[in-house]
This record gives sequence, structure tokens and C-alpha cells, in this order.
Amino acid sequence: MKANICVSENMSGKMARISAISFNPLSNEFCNEWSKVDRTTCSICYARRYASTFRQNTVPPYTQNARIMSTREVTERDFKKNAFKAGQFVRFLAYGELINDMSFKNFCKIAELYPDIKATMWTKRLDIVEPLIDLVPDNMRLMYSTMPVNPSDEIATRIPTGFNGIFNVYTVDYILEHAREINCSGSCATCLRCYTQDNIVVNELVKEHWGNEDARYAQIKNNCMTNGVTP
Ligand code: SF4
Repeated sequence: MKANICVSENMSGKMARISAISFNPLSNEFCNEWSKVDRTTCSICYARRYASTFRQNTVPPYTQNARIMSTREVTERDFKKNAFKAGQFVRFLAYGELINDMSFKNFCKIAELYPDIKATMWTKRLDIVEPLIDLVPDNMRLMYSTMPVNPSDEIATRIPTGFNGIFNVYTVDYILEHAREINCSGSCATCLRCYTQDNIVVNELVKEHWGNEDARYAQIKNNCMTNGVTP
């Protein structure tokens, strides 16, 4: 039987070897509205860029995920047999954002249905999550994605109650001017910081170029050192 909910198993780049359940960002009202606001992470969203160009094949399954999970309770029958492996690290919302209470409750339910997975959700929707925070099961973690690019120290380090960490995005120019530790390595499966550690502040460089992440980070760090900034 064909699964109703698509679990992405063959992600590429930073997400290689991490499974994910995603929503289509291009049909998400929250994403669409914030994508129009300059200097927000939504305005430079990688997922929107991918879904509208070389990952257009994600649009139908991620649209279906969003439709189902925002309108009814999911059950095990929505997933293919052996949808997850025991101990599997799973990203909730690699693409897209929560839509409503039902969508959040369903992610909590999926973590409960599969107690052997280790799930982490990235979200900006405190308005949805905070009132429902008590529903989060032990095997599900929360990373708060900050909205501004180059957030102030105050915003960048304020981890919301019940969340495990906070995720910030900086431009190269900004980190050259301000000493910021860029500690997102660009390879989740070998790093797993967001999937295993608590009270973490994770800083990522905005992707202005695409390709070898290790080489990109090495070059940025070298630029910083050259400019007297210790990243
Ligand atoms: S800090 Fe590590 S686990 Fe978190 S997003 Fe970056 S590479 Fe992935």
C-alpha cells in the first residue's frame, strides 16, 4: 500500500543520511508572507529556492504531507512499513513550517508512534508551539529558528522555554565585522549537535554559493582570521 505521508530518506547536502518529514514552503501562508520581508531568513530560504528550481519533485509529496497533517490526525497506516529505522535521526520540517495546531500535534504523535526515532523540529512558530509544549514527547526536540538574518546577541541567544536550542543565520560580512562563532558544520549526520545537545546556540553562514561545504567553511574561517576575527 502506498504511504500517505512521505518520509524523505535520500536527502542531499547538509541533510545527507538524515530522514525528514517536510511541508511545501511555497504553499505555506506563513512562509509566503515572511518571504516578502527583507532581511529575514524566510526571504533567503533555501527550501523555497530548492522547491522552485531543481527540487520541484518535492512539491507534490510535501504538499500532500501538509494537507493531511494540518487537517486530520495521522495514524501508523499513513506510513509505509518500516518507515523509520530504530535509532534513526529524523528532521521534522526540513522544508516548510507548521501550519496550525493540528500539524504540530501530528508531529508529536509521529514521535510517539515511533519511540525509537530521535526527532528534531526546526520552527519559528512559537505562537503554535508554546501553548502545546507539554505534548512534546521525550524523543522529540525543538530548535527555534530566528527570523532576522544577523540577529542581535539578545535575539540570537534567547532559547524559548521548552526548546533545546536556537538556530541563527549570519552573512559573511556580518561575521567579519562581529566576532561570531560559526558552529554549524554543514554536515548533520557527522555533527548531530542539533539532534543530541541541549541549550545550544547554533550559528550558520548564509549560503551565497553552493557546493563543497567543508571547503566553503574553511575559506570563510581563513577570511575571518585574515581580518583579525576569530570565528
Ligand atoms: S549544527 Fe550540526 S546538526 Fe545542527 S544543522 Fe548544523 S550540521 Fe546539522
